[in-house]
Amino acid sequence: RRNAGILPSLEDLLFYTVAEGQEKIPAHKFLTALKATGLRTGDPRLKECMETLKETLKKTSDGVTLDRHLFKRCVQSNIVLLTQAFRKKFVIPDFQSFTSHIDELYENAKNLSGGQVADYIPQLAKFNPDLWAVSLCTVDGQRHTVGDTKVPFCLQSCVKPLKYAVAVHDHGTEYVHSFIGKEPSGLRFNKLFLNEDDKPHNPMVNAGAIVCTSLIKVKAEVMNFLKNMAGNEYVGFSNATFQSERESGDRNFAIGYYLKEKKCFPEGTDMTSVLDFYFQLCSIEVTCESASVMAATLANGGICPITGERVLSPEAVRNTLSLMHSCGMYDFSGQFAFHVGLPAKSGVAGGILLVVPNVMGIMCWSPPLDKLGNSVRGIQFCTDLVELFNFHNYDNLRHFAKKHDPRREGGDQRVKSVINLLFAAYTGDVSALRRFALSSMDMEQRDYDSRTALHVAAAEGHTEVVRFLLEACKVNPVPRDRWENTPMDEAVHFGHHDVVTILQQYHDKYSPPARADDKESAEKSLDSLL
Ligand code: GLU
Repeated sequence: RRNAGILPSLEDLLFYTVAEGQEKIPAHKFLTALKATGLRTGDPRLKECMETLKETLKKTSDGVTLDRHLFKRCVQSNIVLLTQAFRKKFVIPDFQSFTSHIDELYENAKNLSGGQVADYIPQLAKFNPDLWAVSLCTVDGQRHTVGDTKVPFCLQSCVKPLKYAVAVHDHGTEYVHSFIGKEPSGLRFNKLFLNEDDKPHNPMVNAGAIVCTSLIKVKAEVMNFLKNMAGNEYVGFSNATFQSERESGDRNFAIGYYLKEKKCFPEGTDMTSVLDFYFQLCSIEVTCESASVMAATLANGGICPITGERVLSPEAVRNTLSLMHSCGMYDFSGQFAFHVGLPAKSGVAGGILLVVPNVMGIMCWSPPLDKLGNSVRGIQFCTDLVELFNFHNYDNLRHFAKKHDPRREGGDQRVKSVINLLFAAYTGDVSALRRFALSSMDMEQRDYDSRTALHVAAAEGHTEVVRFLLEACKVNPVPRDRWENTPMDEAVHFGHHDVVTILQQYHDKYSPPARADDKESAEKSLDSLL
């Protein structure tokens, strides 16, 4: 028997979760379990854990197995994130079942053959019409990706919402909208046309995007913003596209001169260099994967989920999402808002940047475009997505049972595990314990070391939890853990005198009742206490 007082730490609890009763964990088991939560081993937030893991494994005898001590050492620097992940606390708790649905939707759209690849410049015409990719990143940084997600392509018009966000982040709403409207134009995106006040209709059409480009203070900073939105994943530049856009850009030059004539730019603007910058921004390259992180930054109120860095102000993000919602999909914007009900922006390279606010960012990419200029497969995917999940802005989240709510699923499993019981006892979360008791969880469950919730609560000095377990749940007050220690031993060791007092009352009078009585009396006292 060892001394009382070796507490299960969060690291211990994580070990039990992953080990499932074994004494040691093979590293691949941990990594597989980690990936199932949606986290990537390359996630910048897990850097320390992964580095320590690599180092630690080198020193083990077989190069793969971790005992509890080594495991704890590996996870301790990222324990908060890992705990959240394994307790299914992420926005999509059952990530694997969610992504299997996504894969089905991907396959469904893959079969579509319609549409034309844009061919006004060779850099776009060269793309194979079969290319098709979907990537997503949740606000907790859960990642999923299917298809040709590592092929670079140009953002083209998908950069419009991003640079608008940067402009608002820099200058605020009022200033930006003293130059640009907020209304859908009802006209093709590259029309030479202004609203009644001689301003571009909105920042999602070319005229508005060109004025928006002129508002950006430091050109060189835009690339940094984009990089940060993408969590430092791939952001490149296609110089060939830039040159072609400039050579074939007569319409945009016409718009530029018209805007200049109507005094749409801030004073002192050099219109032709603004156009150059506009073409350059269109020529910024992403992959489906990196762009999904950009979309996720918009979904997450301007904080990049995988770095935790604030990139854009909440104001800039909210404005951007509003205008994407009403104006993001060319002349299909109204229909898209109606059927899909999510902010999105498409581009001529075949990208659709889609945002499920507060949940996830998605990038769909496939070059063939429909008559209005939107990716055929992308539109199909977006439509199918909200048919299956209640992501439409006006889906009722409480009563519309026909659709899946991936934000809630996995909830059942969540309450079952002994680990969650011990977590609640550890943190003194009485209301969580009440819920467990109500869902008729066995409140005497033991962990790998035979410790109960009562042991943990006693060691932590959570009197309310101790009282609840003893009075309402009628748990055994003298369970013995692997080292024969009782909750009393823990309370004494840690000097929690009030816990000792409570436990003493129960110690003396406890005798395990017959099973039936036990349940009945437990139910009775639950009624009175819950
Ligand atoms: N470079 C294109 C233009 O400005 C962008 C087209 C688009 O993606 O909508 O005309």
